[in-house]
Amino acid sequence: MSDRIPSTEPVKVGFVSLGCPKNLVDSEVMMGLVARAGAEITPRAEDADVIVVNTCSFIDTAQQESVNTILEMAGHKAAGRARKLVVAGCLVERFRNEIQKNIPEVDAVVGTGELESILAAAGIAPLPANGNPPFVVLPSRPEAAARAQKGRFERGEWDGAIADLPNYLYDENTPRVLATPRWSAYIKIAEGCDHPCSFCIIPQLRGKFRSRRFESVVAEAERLARSGVREIILIGQDTTCYGEDLGLKDALPLLLERLALIEELRWIRFLYAYPNKITRRLLETIARHAKICSYIDVPLQHASAAVLKRMKRGGGPEVFLRSIERMRRTIPGLTLRTSFIAGFPGETERDFDELCEFVRAAEFDWLGVFGYSDEEGASSHALGGKLPAAEVEHRRRKLMQIQKQISRRKKKALVGRQFDLLLEGSSAETELLWEGRTEMHAPEIDGKVFVIDFGDHTEVRPGEFHRCEVAEAHDYDLVVKLVN
Ligand code: SF4
Repeated sequence: MSDRIPSTEPVKVGFVSLGCPKNLVDSEVMMGLVARAGAEITPRAEDADVIVVNTCSFIDTAQQESVNTILEMAGHKAAGRARKLVVAGCLVERFRNEIQKNIPEVDAVVGTGELESILAAAGIAPLPANGNPPFVVLPSRPEAAARAQKGRFERGEWDGAIADLPNYLYDENTPRVLATPRWSAYIKIAEGCDHPCSFCIIPQLRGKFRSRRFESVVAEAERLARSGVREIILIGQDTTCYGEDLGLKDALPLLLERLALIEELRWIRFLYAYPNKITRRLLETIARHAKICSYIDVPLQHASAAVLKRMKRGGGPEVFLRSIERMRRTIPGLTLRTSFIAGFPGETERDFDELCEFVRAAEFDWLGVFGYSDEEGASSHALGGKLPAAEVEHRRRKLMQIQKQISRRKKKALVGRQFDLLLEGSSAETELLWEGRTEMHAPEIDGKVFVIDFGDHTEVRPGEFHRCEVAEAHDYDLVVKLVN
């Protein structure tokens, strides 16, 4: 076998990474692997010999975006320099065979559990170190019902179903090329998920929950800090379960405490907490350490107990409000983010009113709402009581409307207050303004902070921390001036 790209020049590889930060880390690992093998990473698809599209398959719109991007990149192969098109990521786990059958321009696919196959898929020879063979043959993953035997993730009816659950997990020695600004990096501390949420196919796409070793995460964080990273964001499908599979207790608070000892780091955050896994120890750890951002992202998905039961999650408005009160009492100044699914099958008007009432009472700082999207393979697909798409969208908008008023009120209350600000450079919206983030703002997902006044500074640089004062507040965004 040899579809290796014959060349004396380094192979140029372009990556398009779609979807969430977890997928971005996978892209960074694949970039690290091809760079270590001597390939050059290029940001321009026109210059690439190999184009890799790392796809997302979260909901319909994400799948459509993934397919559109693959087709757009296929155009570069037809008309440009590219000789290989590789599709990676969640869409591959779901529609492996269909991609290969229906998009002939695609030369190879790499599932979420096969990141190390990127070299073979891209036709790049690995460095002949450690006794590696000069060329790796892509593993063949036949259609099989074997996956169903491994656990509860029945997916036999899917075209493109694969035999094995992905079980790959990178470690501190895996090379990574960061795609984030140099002062900020994600660290994936766990992969996969064991929760049974009925609307979610992530466990089938990403495999069972598995944590990285404690020392591996610490070693990676230390290396990143030495290379100039000042903000670490821990991610996983559920970071609050971190370490359970390794028999560790309170592993997330212990990890946060350990990372807080790394001198060079200024901010440490974690995303995606599971509601009933937020322990007192975790809250007290956040409250005790200035470097651990007072920020919790806990996707609640709904508030009506009846809907949560059908979602196979549990909980309800009273228990959630008590838990939020405890979080805010333990961590003064806490920023709280959540997300909901509107229009879940069987969601009555009363369920939805209950959700609206809960949003008014909980007063989240940040809120995302997804309209329910019927995913083949998710157990909610078989539920009755599906709502028309227009009604789902109506409910989604109504929730966002309620949140907009809450957000506006909460942002106005910040005017005149001072915060640490991480400067990120000129705004994508206008070069006249710079943007930054405070502890209240995780990258990409929360509102924006625009800097209108640099105070006494004649020169500032992206990646610097300054103190700022909020001068104006809008529905979601803040306008600040530097005060030192
Ligand atoms: S906890 Fe999150 S990733 Fe896991 S099954 Fe539920 S929604 Fe999916």
